Amino acid sequence: MSRPVPTLGNPKNTIEILNKYKFVFQKRFGQNFLIDEHVLGKIIRSAEITEDDFVIEIGPGIGTLTQYLAASAREVAAIEIDDALIPILEDTLSGYDNVTVIHEDVLKVDLTRLAEEKNGGKPVKIVANLPYYITTPIIMGLFENHVPVDSITIMVQKEVADRMKTGPGSKDYGALSLAVQYYARPELVANVPPNCFMPRPRVGSAVIRLTRHEKPPVRVQDEKLMFQIIRASFNQRRKTLVNGLCNAPELRIPKERTAAILEEMGLGAGVRGETMELSQFAELSNRLKKADASV
Ligand code: SAM
Repeated sequence: MSRPVPTLGNPKNTIEILNKYKFVFQKRFGQNFLIDEHVLGKIIRSAEITEDDFVIEIGPGIGTLTQYLAASAREVAAIEIDDALIPILEDTLSGYDNVTVIHEDVLKVDLTRLAEEKNGGKPVKIVANLPYYITTPIIMGLFENHVPVDSITIMVQKEVADRMKTGPGSKDYGALSLAVQYYARPELVANVPPNCFMPRPRVGSAVIRLTRHEKPPVRVQDEKLMFQIIRASFNQRRKTLVNGLCNAPELRIPKERTAAILEEMGLGAGVRGETMELSQFAELSNRLKKADASV
């Protein structure tokens, strides 16, 4: 199988395509296109794409990363929201017979069905230079909807990459850190400066790889309950966990019940969620579940 060598990924060819189609960047779609071959190579290598892989790309833009993916993978599905990019993608990807462009908002696409149709339900690889304004809903959606993923290799804001990796005690620690670490092992692949993009973003970026755990690192009886507890405790960072869980409309757990369980866990009623490890959230939710069942 011989596929064309990628032509995009440098400023000259990118500008040429943008001019040819008189493309106007849409800020609301978080459009910052990659123009650095070195970074593109790094993304492909860290995602470990092989000729057996079916890859989903979110937000192909003018098709830069898509060309690299198509050159290495068995098949690629690229989901793009912007009407103006669709004719450009037809042009830049015309040499590749293994790419399907899906013209849709990624948050409306049933990715589990896509994996079922294109990969027989086997775990897929997700690779993307994400639109930064919806990074968190995309990641949470992939995990919470149980899309069969093997790994997710993505460009995100540096600060978001830090949030995914951090633990208790850091100001960046929150619901995203716990969700990512429950489902996957995060690894920082590279820090990427603004001059690797067109136009340049105002913030630094990073490539992070999330490798799905075969089995979550903690045992949780009711995942939904645990994430409700996690969200409630970080929604009200300044409140104690006991108050946070009592005030959350979807939980409304009586203060005494949470306080008693925290005592049993040796944590004390004044504890705040931001100091708690994933294993402690798991234990708390398992104990609350048990207490609720026995009421
Ligand atoms: N992959 C290209 C690259 O690296 O040069 C472009 C990356 S750019 C950061 C993000 C891309 O996501 C843009 O093409 C944008 O139009 C697209 N996008 C934004 N919101 C989207 C959504 N809700 N669904 C699908 N694509 C979206």
